Amino acid sequence: MKQIVLKNVTKKFTTKTLGSITAVNNFSLEIEEGECFSFLGPSGCGKTTTLRMVAGFEDLTEGEIHLGGKAVSVKDKNIYVPPEERGLGMVFQAFAVWPHMNVFDNVAFPLKVQKMNKSDIKRLTQIALKHTNLNGLESVYPSDLSGGEQQRIALARAIVTSPKVLLLDEPLSNLDPKLRESMRFEIKELQKKYNFTIIFVTHDQSEAMALSDRMLVMDMGNIIQIDTPRNMYNKPINKFVHKFLGQSNFIRVVIKDGKAYPKGDLSQEIPCDVDEGAKPEMLLAVRPNAININHTRGYRTKIEKRIILTDNVEYFVKVGDQMLEVETPHRNEFKEGEPCCLEFIHSLWYEDDGIDLDAERNKRQII
Ligand code: ADP
Ligand code: MG
Repeated sequence: MKQIVLKNVTKKFTTKTLGSITAVNNFSLEIEEGECFSFLGPSGCGKTTTLRMVAGFEDLTEGEIHLGGKAVSVKDKNIYVPPEERGLGMVFQAFAVWPHMNVFDNVAFPLKVQKMNKSDIKRLTQIALKHTNLNGLESVYPSDLSGGEQQRIALARAIVTSPKVLLLDEPLSNLDPKLRESMRFEIKELQKKYNFTIIFVTHDQSEAMALSDRMLVMDMGNIIQIDTPRNMYNKPINKFVHKFLGQSNFIRVVIKDGKAYPKGDLSQEIPCDVDEGAKPEMLLAVRPNAININHTRGYRTKIEKRIILTDNVEYFVKVGDQMLEVETPHRNEFKEGEPCCLEFIHSLWYEDDGIDLDAERNKRQII
């Protein structure tokens, strides 16, 4: 069953500095029951606004939202179901726990609002505390707990009513990297126990890749691509998604007689497949870990610079006059200045449209 459906959802805001902006633009999406679905995109691209519309905290400018087959927001028909009747659990980026309540009372709060009887409140709260590894801390106040534990309280409170849908808006962003990884795992485990449908919002691509069944990448209110993490990483639809999902090299390439050369230097061909329909100028996209650096095969160049990282070694090499980054697990194979050859194991072609939306993106991030 489709658990979450958005149809042509648009949200416009009037801002003092930018005038009217379209925070979410004609957004359509269907999420299956039990799916963990991530929204990934840079700050200001409309992730939180979309989530707030699903939750019922934000009015729609256009479009409709359905949860579990029921219309909860339909602009045309004036349908609006308030957040508390949407059957959702939510966790936001800031540790939204009440400092004047102990752990038990924080977690039990949504059940008290529902006027549940005392013994059921105790039973369900204990289950949520157990599932989030907070048992034993019932009478402790949040100020005596770590950031990770505080975020667990928020998580326990979100799941205590056993909602069908869990909305998580950058819940791990304020945690240190180690804790973030273990919390990812815990969220996955919780999902298995409760079979939640999850929307997980993040600007961190590794988080989205680790957690999601499917994900989407957004940019300035628009959905750019929807796919599984693996497909998205291997076949990004455009340059923006390629860059967003990991490290990228983009080589400006000239195509002549079906062969590819680095722009500005036709002295040596780049060994790669060229599509028949390729434009005279293209971008060849290749990730640093998808270049095989070796002594004999491929494009001949030399090591400009070498940086030894913890697990890998990073080389800087030139193709024509363009610098590329290569990352390989082999240590000390090449020295700075030494000749080497490059094979592009997995590369993709993009049209070089020359459009750069970074300035517009940056404006949105400031607000
Ligand atoms: P994200 O969560 O992806 O960082 P948001 O959904 O918070 O992005 O914001 C998307 C855009 O909408 C941004 O340009 C932001 O400044 C704008 N925006 C969000 N909320 C409001 C609001 N209440 N009033 C005016 N503009 C808003
Ligand atoms: Mg946000």
